[in-house]
Amino acid sequence: MNVLVVNCGSSSLKFQLINSETEAVAAKGLCERIGLDGRLVYQPAGGEKEITEAPMPTHTEAIKMVLDALVNPKTGVLKSLDEVEAIGHRVLHGGSKITQSVIINDEVISVIDECCDLGPLHNPANLMGIRACMELMPGKPNVAVFDTAFHQTMPPKAYRYAIPTKYYEKYAVRKYGFHGTSHSFVSKETIKYLGLDKDNSKVIVCHLGNGASISAVENGKCVDTSMGLTPLEGLIMGTRSGDLDPAVLEFVCKKENIDVKEMVRILNKESGVMALSNGLSSDFRDLEEAMDNGNEAAALAIDAFCYRVAKYVGSYVAAMNGVDAIAFTGGIGENADVVRAKVLSYLGYLGIKMDPEMNKKRGENFVLSTEDSKVKVAVIPTNEELAICRETVELVTAAK
Ligand code: ADP
Repeated sequence: MNVLVVNCGSSSLKFQLINSETEAVAAKGLCERIGLDGRLVYQPAGGEKEITEAPMPTHTEAIKMVLDALVNPKTGVLKSLDEVEAIGHRVLHGGSKITQSVIINDEVISVIDECCDLGPLHNPANLMGIRACMELMPGKPNVAVFDTAFHQTMPPKAYRYAIPTKYYEKYAVRKYGFHGTSHSFVSKETIKYLGLDKDNSKVIVCHLGNGASISAVENGKCVDTSMGLTPLEGLIMGTRSGDLDPAVLEFVCKKENIDVKEMVRILNKESGVMALSNGLSSDFRDLEEAMDNGNEAAALAIDAFCYRVAKYVGSYVAAMNGVDAIAFTGGIGENADVVRAKVLSYLGYLGIKMDPEMNKKRGENFVLSTEDSKVKVAVIPTNEELAICRETVELVTAAK
């Protein structure tokens, strides 16, 4: 089955066309600057990248350009759009109503719409992408795969905030968690790769990218995760603060004479390792280089990041009363051996032993703990597009 996987941001749209039998990517790319001017980057498998500048006032024009590129007689990979059998959409927020991936119908659209309040940057863009696909490929099944869905198995003790109940009842203020597609994919891959028994397993997934989150997965189900109502809670990230005393908001707002909205923007865009490195960079490649050259702020940023990750791992060992495996994923988790080594250096009490040579590996799934380590530690590269493709195929096939 040819599945078009679509991931819409507020001014961008990433796509991959995946053959579900071989799981090979036939073509991929991205539309940028939607609503401004418009630029399509398209790349067929084994071919060169093509860049086309063309107006894209909305996501509909962007999708139209993607579809035209896919059937282009020269560099396209399909004879006709009939060969696209289903479309899988990444959707940010499904609130409490949606606990798994679903085939999109009017009811699902209204839930995504209701959740725009909770995901104001992403849900409206996700809806635009869905509507554009429905308009341009009528009759094809569209599936929504939610970033929040995998975390819906958390118990109330994990997802409730200790604030007045009326905020939960009236406005659904609670922990939701994000990166769910990645946590689901990586925890399943970890169980498979390490030969664990899914129904008797305790796995901690560290998704460390520009945005970063951790989840505790017991017997295949998420029991806790570090992001909250929004993706601001939890770990220190590229430019996000992660956890902090909420009273900091009022304190700084008063001192600097700024409003809460501006402060939340600062916590999202001007904080994290970017702030701790005194504005040097949010990218760990730059931070590592600076640290190696003696930059103390960069060293502090990396150390604080790793320390926070280790503290969350420790708390999730407590949450599950044990751990069988820890998986690293995401741009940092997959590539930054320095970060993995530093995180694990805090976790010796768990009987974790790292093999420094194995830790230097890159690429596919690999184990970096020693044979006699009490907990297995692995790098499991995430693949959210493939996860969306698999979920889409499963639902569409079951509905046939
Ligand atoms: P997101 O999907 O949240 O945008 P990614 O998971 O793609 O982020 O991760 C991007 C981050 O990964 C970069 O900002 C950088 O910090 C880190 N990264 C990527 N490659 C390397 C590398 N070779 N060494 C260290 N860090 C890396």
